[in-house]
Amino acid sequence: MSHVPKEHPRYLSLLYRERIAEGVRKGITAVEGIAAHGRGETFDYILGEKTHDFAFEAERAAVALMLLSKHPVISVNGNVAALIPEEIVKLSEALNAILEVNIFHFSEERVRKIKEEIEAHGGRILADMDATLEGLKSARRLVSSKGIFIADTVLVPLEDGDRCEILRMNGKKVITIDLNPLSRTSRMADITIVDNLVRAVPNMIELAEELKSYPERDLKEILSNYDNKKILSASIERIRDCLTEMAEKVKEE
Ligand code: ATP
Ligand code: MG
Repeated sequence: MSHVPKEHPRYLSLLYRERIAEGVRKGITAVEGIAAHGRGETFDYILGEKTHDFAFEAERAAVALMLLSKHPVISVNGNVAALIPEEIVKLSEALNAILEVNIFHFSEERVRKIKEEIEAHGGRILADMDATLEGLKSARRLVSSKGIFIADTVLVPLEDGDRCEILRMNGKKVITIDLNPLSRTSRMADITIVDNLVRAVPNMIELAEELKSYPERDLKEILSNYDNKKILSASIERIRDCLTEMAEKVKEE
């Protein structure tokens, strides 16, 4: 990124785009991951590339749920490993959650490279794929018998709608980080964080440090006050309002 000055208005966006490109070159990220990232960028652009109240509330509820869970797991794919390897390791430590490699476009080499990338950042990560989630055709069905297979809650940044449904059918709570509130994943999850994962994960690390010392009763209260439908519709309304504001601005220019 030496060619892009820090003052560039799209500096951060370009930096993360570069990380995705580097992830593809290193064999960590699937080529399709570029398209997924681009779809996320579009929503982020419209939302002003910041964490809105509805996202922060979902992040707080997500941390409460992870802390209350007996066997919380964080699913790691090629985009997560390319964008925020260090932060995802920190989050797993702060939440006492297991990391597990889980990818849509399967290759043994990519699984190994994602594992190595996380380990290079000091994390431990499962990649056994010795168990199967029934009802799914994609490689996402392959999970670890020590991880997602027995998890009660799974945090899946950038999930696909199909598996979200299957995870829920298997009795698991699902938390997703997805900038597209219209996706099937967003609408299926128990908790939907409409935020960029490069902001959501650092926010969640801080929240975990804070909520860790809370008694169980208080964590349960955060969850019982949380309404995912309300959060989802607030995020969609915010997109509408952002677009209205932009349309007004264009008229004034
Ligand atoms: P489905 O309806 O199956 O859930 P989808 O729109 O989610 O479909 P995917 O292939 O799962 O399709 O796309 C990945 C999703 O991840 C997109 O919705 C995109 O907005 C989101 N996304 C991509 N990059 C990021 C990111 N850095 N942070 C948060 N969300 C992201
Ligand atoms: Mg999705």
